Amino acid sequence: MATPRLRFAPSPTGYLHVGGARTALFNWLYARKHGGVMLLRIEDTDKARSTDESTRAIFEGLNWLGLQWDEDVVHQGANLDRHRADAERMLANDTAYRCFCTQEELAERRAAAEANKDSFKYDRRCDRLSAADIAARLADNMPFTVRFRVSEGHTSWNDLVHDTISFPNKDIEDFIILRTDGTPIYNMAVVSDDIAMGITLVMRGDDHISNTPKQILLYRALGAELPQFAHLPMIHGLDGKKLSKRHGATAVGDYQHLGILPGAMLNFLALLGWAPGDDIELMTRDEMIALFDTKGLQKKAAIFDTKKLEWMNGQHLNLLPIDELMSRVTPALVASGHVSAEWLAGHSEWYLKLLELLKVRARTVDDIVQQAGPYLTESVVYDPDAVARQWKDRAFTETALAGVHEALSALPGWNATAMEEALRAVAERLGLGDKAGKIFQPLRVALTGSSASPGIFDVLELLGRERSLARLSSALHFIANTTT
Ligand code: GLU
Repeated sequence: MATPRLRFAPSPTGYLHVGGARTALFNWLYARKHGGVMLLRIEDTDKARSTDESTRAIFEGLNWLGLQWDEDVVHQGANLDRHRADAERMLANDTAYRCFCTQEELAERRAAAEANKDSFKYDRRCDRLSAADIAARLADNMPFTVRFRVSEGHTSWNDLVHDTISFPNKDIEDFIILRTDGTPIYNMAVVSDDIAMGITLVMRGDDHISNTPKQILLYRALGAELPQFAHLPMIHGLDGKKLSKRHGATAVGDYQHLGILPGAMLNFLALLGWAPGDDIELMTRDEMIALFDTKGLQKKAAIFDTKKLEWMNGQHLNLLPIDELMSRVTPALVASGHVSAEWLAGHSEWYLKLLELLKVRARTVDDIVQQAGPYLTESVVYDPDAVARQWKDRAFTETALAGVHEALSALPGWNATAMEEALRAVAERLGLGDKAGKIFQPLRVALTGSSASPGIFDVLELLGRERSLARLSSALHFIANTTT
């Protein structure tokens, strides 16, 4: 089999959209899986809408995701001469013809058809011009477009996602391939480039399905071999409507700035329209490459659920080697103002333990920073919900926390086993039997300000003796001085 050649062909008219990134990813996965080549083509022929800034955003987004392309970037706008030459080849081999109808004439005919409730289709009048007539118009320098002559029959292909797709040619008008100024129409430029780049599989969004029959006709007219086609499903928001800014961030760069890990973003994007099978969801980049198969591509629209992305991020956060996690969390912690990089470096063992414990409950780097607060500050801020729920029975809370304070102060060492024994004895004394857990929740609020944290003995160890006892005293003081 010839080496597969694939391409991602974004138009640089905005940021890199998550849908575009998904298309890039699937092309890249296929290329990597099959020892193929992944190309990037910037479709910048629309000069009015294309900007260098969007081209840069596309490069940045792909680089952040680690979706490398293999050869020099192709800029479609640099190939206009070839696009024109290909269209002229079609004029020469008589699969296309010159059309001298002006835009105004066409608009009039369209309006007349619409007034009669007919659908408008070019009536091919210029295809019936005699050679002498054409020569006379050319001699008069009359402007013309070049139209492709659509033959009768059907145009079909075996789509890797949708199986057979077939369009009756009668529904396709003789479409323009070159404008009067000699610039190519979109489908002409795409086909000319895909042929020149040796593309063997065109994988793109299914909003392009209606372009494909026209493109196939152009391949045939140019005597080129057809690539395979795979049209990927659209991406919808949770409400079933096409994903748009209404649903939240749609730019890849936004997720980068929200602290999403590139590996999590890739994994999440991979599941938008592809099911690896066996209920597999969590995948590293290498696992995705190994599992990727166009058979798992789906027809129905994929749903973009940011909650799932957060969950996915939490899973990937846990998979990160701890030093990599550290290098992501440290700047964020320093930026939070609670701690300096030097202090963290001087307490690396303690910091490592903190990260190991916090990462389990975190979905984002920001979550870790937030959860780390109570371990880095002198005092804690009590979450009102936690206070209302866990310190509801004030008399019990006071007795329990005072008992814990006394028992822990009396300990000669500060280790989990001794602390556990001491707290179980307090529970026993309070008549809780083996329900020592009943004092752990109020204690957790006293130590961290919230009702969720790592295991209580881990918290006590991380905080150390002095700070733990001080927090118990502060909590008792707070309870004694608050009226309910
Ligand atoms: N430039 C087109 C787009 O951004 C893609 C064209 C193609 O993949 O054939 O939608």
